[in-house]
Amino acid sequence: MIHKHDLLIVGAGLAGLRAGVETSKYHDVAILSKLFPTRSHSGAAQGGIAAALGNEEHDTVEWHIFDSVKGSDYLGDQDAITMMCSEAPDAIYELEHMGVPFSRTKDGKIAQRQFGGHTKEVKDEQGNIKRLPVIRACYAADRTGHVLLHTLYEQCVKNNVRFYSEYFVLSLIIRDGVCRGLTAFNLRDGQIHTFHAKAVMFGTGGYGRAFRVTSNAYANSGDGVAIAFRAGIPLEDMEFVQFHPTGLYPLGILVTEGARGEGGYLKNRNGDRFMKEYAPTVMELAPRDMVTRSIQTEINEGRGIDGKDFVNLDLTHIGAAKLKERLPEITGFAKTYAGIDPVKQPIPILPTAHYSMGGIPVTLKGEVLADEKGNTVTGFYAAGECACVSVHGANRLGTNSLLDAVIHGRRTGKTLVEFLRTAELSPMPEDAEDNDKKIFADLYDTKKGENCDKIRVRLKEEMMNKCGVFRNEKDLNSMLDTIHELKSMYKNVAMMDKSKVFNTEMQEIFELRNLLEFSDAIVTGALARQECRGAHWRTDHPTRDDVNWLKHSIAFKTEKGIELKYKPVIITKYQPQERKY
Ligand SMILES: Cc1cc2nc3c(=O)[nH]c(=O)nc-3n(C[C@H](O)[C@H](O)[C@H](O)COP(=O)(O)OP(=O)(O)OC[C@H]3O[C@@H](n4cnc5c(N)ncnc54)[C@H](O)[C@@H]3O)c2cc1C
Repeated sequence: MIHKHDLLIVGAGLAGLRAGVETSKYHDVAILSKLFPTRSHSGAAQGGIAAALGNEEHDTVEWHIFDSVKGSDYLGDQDAITMMCSEAPDAIYELEHMGVPFSRTKDGKIAQRQFGGHTKEVKDEQGNIKRLPVIRACYAADRTGHVLLHTLYEQCVKNNVRFYSEYFVLSLIIRDGVCRGLTAFNLRDGQIHTFHAKAVMFGTGGYGRAFRVTSNAYANSGDGVAIAFRAGIPLEDMEFVQFHPTGLYPLGILVTEGARGEGGYLKNRNGDRFMKEYAPTVMELAPRDMVTRSIQTEINEGRGIDGKDFVNLDLTHIGAAKLKERLPEITGFAKTYAGIDPVKQPIPILPTAHYSMGGIPVTLKGEVLADEKGNTVTGFYAAGECACVSVHGANRLGTNSLLDAVIHGRRTGKTLVEFLRTAELSPMPEDAEDNDKKIFADLYDTKKGENCDKIRVRLKEEMMNKCGVFRNEKDLNSMLDTIHELKSMYKNVAMMDKSKVFNTEMQEIFELRNLLEFSDAIVTGALARQECRGAHWRTDHPTRDDVNWLKHSIAFKTEKGIELKYKPVIITKYQPQERKY
């Protein structure tokens, strides 16, 4: 079955919907999503979205830029960061006018809270400049992503966007450097459909599901990143995976950084607020990479609670009324999943795989890059967590990613409005569906073979242990061997469920193919990068090395395996300094 639209957006998270709002005023737009739109992971975002509004105290865009550059461990491109932080206030007011129900200050302005790594400049008594936490994250209780997602979905419905929900995208169709559309299967009846369009945009989200402990939804299997990679698109900075400091023990369900923003303490088995040893000025509000390593060090050195692999997040001094008003969701999570009442007891937490800094390389306008030299792929665009602009560099600051998704969703939307005014529909190749149809037929034919769950469980377990918070050459080499072994096992994967209707086993088999694909790029990048920068920490190369490694890695899929090339970081104003808080 063939469908035709001007524009296909894959992904109904914040990035996809924001681009949908922008483009649907002028063009015929379809949004495909493997989930019902409002179930996208953006809806799970709790803590907030950054913008230097200065509603609670004095703040400036320049401080936001500086914090994001420093937070990125100087790997973020400064032109992109400057653009994102400068456009943030306007983008927030625009969301407010669309109807987002933000929490309010006493005088009715958008309420804000503190988040790690976001700072203001203050002078101490001697006149020296210090940087202390600033109140910058706009929020709606601890349901910020939920309200943003619902508002943008309503706007898309209002603009008559055509939604194809529960369609699982399989392949991009790119011929002669021009993107012509894609193939997808409809989960409801297992049929393959071809979508033909003048342009395709990916807003397919992140890839935390490659790790055993993760805050990410089941759907975050990095499909878009892997589909692009298979279609010949390179991937940028894949080795940078953020581990959030506070996942609820043992599964890793997120406890928002907003809990520390509201004054929460981290304590080890001795009851010490151990962050004073690692980041004396900002303590619990240091950036995520640092807090995560501090927690992992406490655990590794036996100071986890009762010697186990978790520490405590203590909110008991905050009081029941404030917790109910500001953090109702995580209070509920702690009760449901850990049997803990945060009003009376500390919450057991451990680091959890959370955010993908790397992804599909794009220009500031959302055009997908074909190589490290700046050439683009005609008709293919990406925004949000699946894309790498790069505004987060080696480590993202909390609340900068909802912002990234909204800002780049909007920018990419604007680029597409112009592109579609003159773009023509390129012919669809006749064999567009052939490869996917063959894979389908083979899966329905399998009688016995490898078990999908078994491969996935092993991948996630080993990625956590060998390519997690702390990394070294021996473990990474061993991880690469595992991935190659699992990839060859995958070739014989068997599908036992032969039904056509909502065949979730089939979906999991396709997701596993994607997990294996991009995990290879993560580990290859991590092995090559012999330094510590942001979230990438090599115990065998324990310092940042600006001479050799102040550069973005670009991974290409070739016949012989993954090949790495590099491109320079764009530095406009802030020269790299030692990163202390
Ligand atoms: C628990 C949690 C809390 C967070 N809290 C915050 C926060 O407070 N502040 C902040 O700034 N950031 C936060 N983040 C990060 C932030 O939420 C995400 O980076 C951002 O929402 C990603 O938006 P997105 O539009 O790129 O992707 P998503 O919202 O993840 O959407 C991806 C979309 O792609 C679709 N899709 C994927 N693969 C396919 C396929 N094969 N076929 C069809 N459709 C597909 C999905 O159906 C979905 O609609 C949080 C993340 C998590 C996991």
